[in-house]
Amino acid sequence: MAELKISESRDLTRIERIGAHSHIRGLGLDSALEPRDVSEGMVGQTQARKAAGVILQMIKEGKIAGRAILLAGQPGTGKTAIAMGMAKSLGLETPFSMLSGSELFSLEMSKTEALMQAFRKSIGVRIKEETEVIEGEVVEIHIDRPAVTGAASKTGKLTLKTTDMETIYDLGAKMIEALGKEKVQSGDVIAIDKASGKITKLGRSFSRSRDYDAMGPQTKFVQCPDGELQKRKEVVHCVTLHEIDVINSRTQGFLALFTGDTGEIRAEVREQIDTKVAEWREEGKAEIVPGVLFIDEVHMLDIECFSFLNRALENEMAPILVVATNRGITTIRGTNYKSPHGIPIDLLDRLLIITTQPYTIDEIRKIVDIRSQEEDVEMSEDAKELLTKIGHETSLRYAINLITAAALNCQKRKGRIVEVQDITRVYNLFLDVRRSTQYLMEYQNEYMFNEVGMADGGED
Ligand code: ATP
Repeated sequence: MAELKISESRDLTRIERIGAHSHIRGLGLDSALEPRDVSEGMVGQTQARKAAGVILQMIKEGKIAGRAILLAGQPGTGKTAIAMGMAKSLGLETPFSMLSGSELFSLEMSKTEALMQAFRKSIGVRIKEETEVIEGEVVEIHIDRPAVTGAASKTGKLTLKTTDMETIYDLGAKMIEALGKEKVQSGDVIAIDKASGKITKLGRSFSRSRDYDAMGPQTKFVQCPDGELQKRKEVVHCVTLHEIDVINSRTQGFLALFTGDTGEIRAEVREQIDTKVAEWREEGKAEIVPGVLFIDEVHMLDIECFSFLNRALENEMAPILVVATNRGITTIRGTNYKSPHGIPIDLLDRLLIITTQPYTIDEIRKIVDIRSQEEDVEMSEDAKELLTKIGHETSLRYAINLITAAALNCQKRKGRIVEVQDITRVYNLFLDVRRSTQYLMEYQNEYMFNEVGMADGGED
């Protein structure tokens, strides 16, 4: 009985996590690409937002590919936030993928393979198909599985293709009757012969099928609102090159996309796919949608990765590469040479550089406001004032981090809204970088591996 209660109370606890950039909903620009003062969670940083907006517009118009942009600026000045804003403003059809420089070193694959996968995740392929006409008018009917079977699947869709205009529910039921419930899967494409009523399974829709060609020319796939009848002349489906790679390279096919266990993909598979996509493009069946690849902490890449990027950007299908760093002149990993941002000069030369500037007090105040709202924390004006001052004197990130901690302190003392005393308490509990460094200087001898006194502070 006691056990049951525990599980019940656990079920009732709702866990919500709020990410560092959850308040960013776009770049906050108006239709003339002018940055609004505070909009879509974005505050200040007007020059950088405007520049990012211009790039965004060029991406949307499909005008550029293979370009690279560097977001450079001090820590906590919104480089990642701007990249997030760009991602949110892109349409669903434009792929956006993101990775952090340090991730490359922890993957179970070579760094260049991981980069190649990231590149191909950022290249979309729009595949167009002509709907074939059988007996005059062809109608593709889409029904939701629950409507037919009463099953619990929310996303399962059956695609029925027929010239018959009977009610879709009736057809769905017939399909299950003919093929058996277990043989009918979401994404199936079937044909029902009008005269005999015979049901044939044609194959599976492209996104779920391992072998597209094997499905034959009759197979069609459209996405449309549940249960709605639609007549289509042209069918368009968007996938990324990486998805096509995975589907064609592993026995488990598309499931690897969900487990993330894609492993290394052989170069021959990619070559075959590139040739096939090139054929589709020539026949006018497909077009490439260059997306965006964002690499944060780009100074963590080494010389091999930089050479790879240089070459990959030459490819005509290359996405837009956005990289960010907070480093100044530092060593290029894997070499003894120093370079601005730790990026080799030949790659730097290709980059359009957008810089971010430190925030003013007023801007910090607005960001504190937005973040308190996002974290559902009520705060007195005085407390916000103090937090803004702390943000100005230490760092924006430190001030943002104190919001939740102060709210917990307020909760503990059974307060209603966060007051100055809560901020002061957490300010004394958690050190910012400057105070922590001061503390280290004072007590350095009591720490292990103490190296103060050596000329170089060490970059990485
Ligand atoms: P680093 O160089 O350390 O990676 P960064 O420049 O990428 O830092 P962010 O992580 O983007 O900095 O910013 C720190 C925090 O401040 C994040 O929570 C971010 O969402 C928020 N922030 C930064 N700039 C803005 C802005 N202009 N408007 C709203 N929120 C912002």
